[in-house]
Amino acid sequence: DARCPLWAWRLAALPGEAPPAPEARHAARAALRAVRRQCMNCAGNRYEVRACQARESCPLWRCRFGVRPQTYKAVRRRFFAPKALRLF
Ligand code: SF4
Repeated sequence: DARCPLWAWRLAALPGEAPPAPEARHAARAALRAVRRQCMNCAGNRYEVRACQARESCPLWRCRFGVRPQTYKAVRRRFFAPKALRLF
C-alpha cells in the first residue's frame, strides 16, 4: 500500500548489499526517517514509540528512534554516564 511510509523501501537492499557511499549514507538516513515515520504512525506519539514493547515481534523495533541502533546506544551511554559534580 503506497500510504505506508515504508512502501518506497519494500525493494531496498538487504543489509550487506547496500550501494556504495555516499548514496548509501543518504539512502540509509532516508530509510531510518521512513522507519521513524512508520513508528509514529503506528504508535501515535514519541512517548508510545519509546515505550513500544514489540521488541520480539516487530522488525522495525531496533530503529524506531530514527537512528542507527549503535548511535542510539552511544547517545544513551553518554547521557547516563557519571558526570563530575559541579558546585558553581
Ligand atoms: S517498533 Fe513498535 S511502534 Fe514501531 S512499527 Fe513496530 S510495533 Fe509500531
